[in-house]
Amino acid sequence: MALRNITIRGDEILTKKCKTIKAITPRICELAADMGETMLAADGVGIAAPQVGVMKRMFLAMPHVDAEDEETRNKIYVMINPEITYREGTQESSEGCLSVPGYMGLVDRPEKIRIKGTDLDGIEHEYEFEGFEATVFCHEYDHLDGILYPDIAKEMMTAEEYAKRLEEAKAEHAGEAAAAQE
Ligand SMILES: [Zn+2]
Repeated sequence: MALRNITIRGDEILTKKCKTIKAITPRICELAADMGETMLAADGVGIAAPQVGVMKRMFLAMPHVDAEDEETRNKIYVMINPEITYREGTQESSEGCLSVPGYMGLVDRPEKIRIKGTDLDGIEHEYEFEGFEATVFCHEYDHLDGILYPDIAKEMMTAEEYAKRLEEAKAEHAGEAAAAQE
């Protein structure tokens, strides 16, 4: 396994439609392992092949960040030739991207999705996700079609601005709670 360089916004490869994977070769398995290592090293919860410079339809996602048990929290899904088969509702998500360092954005995403894809053993799975987990899968899926979240964001801000807003929202919430107790 090896760390790969993460492609940064401005690189043409991030704007292209990726190609279907025809066979799960040892090279694809190696690519998946490298992507996993690169994602973990960069503290990401998802990574798509074009983010390491490979125009193939595969991404990894580690979406259960709030799960209580460690096994679920550390579960990494490998999605080869994924397809979103169902979308329902809308949620506003706050997103960042390993290819767009230093920024955050607000994006309208489906609240609930179903997505199918093949794993490294060639087995097809269909999953249902909602909330943050659905956002992670939609974000990674978009990478395979050359879409970066800033292309579809309602609002962009720097990571500092975002952190400040979170603090303000927390303070406001604490104020409300205090007021409610009175
Ligand atoms: Zn991304």
